[in-house]
Amino acid sequence: MKRIVILGAGTAGTMMLNKLSKALDLKEWKLTIVDKEEAHYYQPGFLFIPFGKYSKEDVIKPKQNFFPKGTDVIYSAIDRIDAENNSVILENQETLTYDYLIIATGSEICPDEVEGLSDELWHKSIFDFYTIEGATALAGFLKDWEGGKMVLNIAEMPIKCPVAPLEFVFLADDYFKDKGIRDKVDITLVTPLDAAFTKPVAAKALGGFLDEKGINLVTEFNIGRVDNEQKKIVSWDEREIDFDLLITIPTNMGSKAIERSGLGDELNFIPTNKHTLQSEAYDNIFVIGDATNLPSSKAGSVAHFESDILFENLMAAIEGKPLEASFDGHANCFIESGGGKGLLIDFNYDVEPLPGKFPIPGIGPFSLLKETRMNHLGKMGFKWLYWNALIKGKELPLDAQMSMAGKQVPETQEQETRTLKLN
Ligand SMILES: Cc1cc2nc3c(=O)[nH]c(=O)nc-3n(C[C@H](O)[C@H](O)[C@H](O)COP(=O)(O)OP(=O)(O)OC[C@H]3O[C@@H](n4cnc5c(N)ncnc54)[C@H](O)[C@@H]3O)c2cc1C
Repeated sequence: MKRIVILGAGTAGTMMLNKLSKALDLKEWKLTIVDKEEAHYYQPGFLFIPFGKYSKEDVIKPKQNFFPKGTDVIYSAIDRIDAENNSVILENQETLTYDYLIIATGSEICPDEVEGLSDELWHKSIFDFYTIEGATALAGFLKDWEGGKMVLNIAEMPIKCPVAPLEFVFLADDYFKDKGIRDKVDITLVTPLDAAFTKPVAAKALGGFLDEKGINLVTEFNIGRVDNEQKKIVSWDEREIDFDLLITIPTNMGSKAIERSGLGDELNFIPTNKHTLQSEAYDNIFVIGDATNLPSSKAGSVAHFESDILFENLMAAIEGKPLEASFDGHANCFIESGGGKGLLIDFNYDVEPLPGKFPIPGIGPFSLLKETRMNHLGKMGFKWLYWNALIKGKELPLDAQMSMAGKQVPETQEQETRTLKLN
C-alpha cells in the first residue's frame, strides 16, 4: 500500500483529507492525518468571544466529526520530519513513512518573542484573542472594565487574518458604545505597517473608518519590549505608548516541528512554490495554509482555494504528470466594521481589492470594498458554511482562481493588470 501523510488537522489538513479520501482507492492508498489536539477550532469565531457574541461552544467541535471513514487518525504531537528518509517522527519517537507528505501545521502566536509581553501582566492587563484561552480571558476582563487606554498592537507581520486587528477595534468601538462607556475609552491601533492594512486601496478605505469612529492609528511602530511596571509598549526606536489594556497580536510563527525538521525560514514558514504549492526542497512534499511562506494572506479562505490547486497537483504527481494547476494567491475576506455592517475584499497576488459585486458579477449579493448589512450577514453565515461544507471538502460555488468579472477596475490598475497578464 502507498501512503499519504497529512500533518495538521486544522482547516487545510481536514479539507485535504476529505478531498483525497473521495478520489483515491483506499485499498491502494493509506491516508494518515496527525494532530496534537482532538478539538477543532473555528478560529474566525475567536474575534467575537471577547464581546460576548460567541461562546466556546460556537467555535469548538471534535475533530473526529470531520474525518471520513476509512482514514487513519493519529492524535500526537509531531516531533520532526526526516525528509531525506520520507518519514515523520512523532513525540513518542514512533516513525511514519510516506510516499507523499502534505504539511498543514498552520501558524501559532509566540508572545515570548517580545521582551516583557508574557510577563506579570499577561492575562491581567495584556491579552491576545488569537487563542481560545486569550479570547475567553479577555471576555472575562472586558465584562467588568470601566474604561481607560486600550491599545491594540500588532508585533510584526505576517499575521494570520491580517484584517482581524481592524475588525477587533471596530467591534470594540461598538461594544463600548453599547455599554455606555465609549467616552471613557481611548482606542489606539498600533501597527508596524505604514497604513491601516497591507493593501493600499483597502488601507485607505479602512483608515477612513478608523477616523470616523475616533480610533487613533500609530504606524511604523516596531515593538521592542513591554514595560510591565509603567504599563507601556516601547518600540526599537524608543517611542513609547501607555496602556491600561493591551491587546496584542504577538509574532506569528510556523510550528516548532518545522524548525526541528530544518524545513522552515526564520519564522518557521516553509519555502513553497507560490503556484504549484510543492515544497521548494522536496518533490514529494506539498505545503498548504498558514504553514507556507507564500506572499498570500494567511487565511482560511486562502487555504480553501489552495486545497483545490494542491489536490489537482498531487493527483498529477501521483500519475507522473506535470503540475499544471497554478495558485494565483486568491484571498477573500469579510471584514466586520461594526454597527451590524461589514465589507468584503477579494484579491490575489497581482490584483488589489477592488470595488464591485461578488460572487455573481453585477448582482452580488455581496458588495466589494463597500460597507453593507449583507456583508455582515455573510460573515456571520460563514460559520455554518465552515462546519457543514468547507472543512468537509464539499464543492462550493467559488472559483479557486480570482475572477475579474464584476470588479470595477480603475484605469491605472487596469493597465497594470493587463501588463501582468501579458507577462
Ligand atoms: C482571530 C482570528 C480570526 C480569523 N478570521 C478569519 C476570517 O475571517 N477569514 C479567514 O479566511 N481566516 C480567518 N482566520 C485565519 C484562519 O483561521 C487560518 O488561516 C486557518 O485556520 C489556517 O488553516 P491551517 O490549516 O493552515 O492552520 P490551522 O487551522 O491553524 O491548523 C493547524 C493544525 O496543525 C496542528 N499542529 C501544529 N503543529 C503541530 C505539531 N507539532 N504536532 C501536531 N499537530 C500540530 C494544530 O494543532 C492545528 O490543528 C482567523 C484566524 C484568527 C486567529
